[in-house]
Amino acid sequence: MVLSLLNPNSHLSRARVKWLAFLNALELCVATPHVTSWWRTEQHNREVGGLPNSKHLTGDAIDVVWQDAQPDPGALLRMCARYELRLVREGDHEHFQFEVP
Ligand SMILES: [Zn+2]
Repeated sequence: MVLSLLNPNSHLSRARVKWLAFLNALELCVATPHVTSWWRTEQHNREVGGLPNSKHLTGDAIDVVWQDAQPDPGALLRMCARYELRLVREGDHEHFQFEVP
């Protein structure tokens, strides 16, 4: 995992760059995100009850809670469309994932 993040061309590093851009856009235009989960090992994914084919395993999903105000739903969906993300509103958190890794 550390080696993947040290290599700027790895899938994980490129996903990280995209997530940071998306999180910055959320903060500026929608609401303040707090990331509670990103990349998971298979063992960690099992421990937290993730799906066997979870996009968290490849770094292509993040879970977010909102720090202060909740986002405007329309603004949130527009931002997801701009970044080609699928949003699953889980109730106690938001799950975002890239549809095309
Ligand atoms: Zn998730």
